[in-house]
Amino acid sequence: MRGSTPATGIDFVRYGGDTLCLALAHDGAPAPTLVLDAGTGLKSVTGLLDGAPFAGTILLSHLHWDHVLGLPFFSAADHPDANVTVMLPEQQSGDGAAAVLCGIMSPPYFPIRPTELRGEWSFGTVAPGGQQIQGFTVLAREIPHKGGRTFGYRVSDGHSALAYLPDHCPTELGPGEDGFGEYHPAALELAKDVDVLVHDAQLFPAELSAEAVYGHALADYAVELSRRAHARSVVLIHHRHTRTDDALDELALRFRGPSPRVIVAAQGITLDL
Ligand SMILES: [Zn+2]
Ligand SMILES: [Zn+2]
Repeated sequence: MRGSTPATGIDFVRYGGDTLCLALAHDGAPAPTLVLDAGTGLKSVTGLLDGAPFAGTILLSHLHWDHVLGLPFFSAADHPDANVTVMLPEQQSGDGAAAVLCGIMSPPYFPIRPTELRGEWSFGTVAPGGQQIQGFTVLAREIPHKGGRTFGYRVSDGHSALAYLPDHCPTELGPGEDGFGEYHPAALELAKDVDVLVHDAQLFPAELSAEAVYGHALADYAVELSRRAHARSVVLIHHRHTRTDDALDELALRFRGPSPRVIVAAQGITLDL
């Protein structure tokens, strides 16, 4: 659940060092069918499939390295019997999804193209608005970040709902009442009444003025957004790659309390909604 680049070393063992990936399964289903983002954590989804090839959709929030570099290392999907759809935000350039992904994954930058992975792969784009994906209702909204179109998603199965805003720069729209950034309509709509808001928490308050330029949010913003949107819990992700386990423990302590429930994401956690 790291942002920007993986973190390795003894200071990063407990919370883990891979970049973003969230796997969603329907209630009672044997395996996840919808994966949000393809960071280096994607390789671990193979272990959830009990040896079976992946059949489902990988939905990307945007195309920055930390959200796509796991794609060729998802061995359950690079498999002769896999059936994979990759969806990404419609690009202002009008380029198709496969062409866009080839921009980061093709020789000389990588040995193969996404279209050369084994199994059945298809590539498509998502427009803002509502759609059905793998039996989930998915609402996509464009949110401010930096350098490339970025979507936040709200995913519901009719019983539970989750909002996913992994890279979000609310200060791009202004400081807001508290200086943490604007609580703008798209963020509030995505997070409204969800069971869990999974949100960018890259920055600590002392870092905001120097680092907001990189396009991220304060942990404090994520928690306040969950209050305003009446989200039941908030999962803080996109930890700065230099943030040690001890610093993340301090973050968890800072937001300890009954409402909203704040979870500082560690790699491999499972949430039952
Ligand atoms: Zn990121
Ligand atoms: Zn990003």
